Order: sequence, then structure tokens, then C-alpha cells
Amino acid sequence: MDKRRQELIDGAIHWEALADREDEQADWDHAHGYGDVTSFRNRAKLYRRTAKSLRLEAETGRPHCTNCLGDHPNHECKTYKK
Ligand SMILES: [Zn+2]
Repeated sequence: MDKRRQELIDGAIHWEALADREDEQADWDHAHGYGDVTSFRNRAKLYRRTAKSLRLEAETGRPHCTNCLGDHPNHECKTYKK
């Protein structure tokens, strides 16, 4: 495996670990009655999309949008809301 691809996969693993941590915190807070865990869940989703975009780049050699996972970097992302 080339160095760039390994860096992308290492980065994805890091983001997935961060996502797991957010989900674990959400689960713990929910189990202990601490109310709204939406922010933890939203961060977990964002971190998993970030990991997925890195894995797609490792697979294809082309950057992918973290927001929509499209194969079109530097685009006017259709899912981005201002
Ligand atoms: Zn996009």
C-alpha cells in the first residue's frame, strides 16, 4: 500500500474512533437520563462521513466531499445549506 493511501486509512480510523466516542457518550448520557443527546449523535454522523470520504479517496484516488460523499471536490455542494 502506498504512503498516501495508508495516511487516508489511518485518518479514517481516527475519525471512526472519535465517532465511536461520541456515540458512547450519547448512550451513557441517555442511560443516565441526561436528556438530549442530539449533539453527540450529530458529531458521530459527521465524523463517520469524514471517515467515509477518506476511505473513498483511498479506494479511488480522488477526493470526495465530506458533506455529500460525491466524487467532485471543490464543488458547490447541493446538500450544504447556508
Ligand atoms: Zn458535496
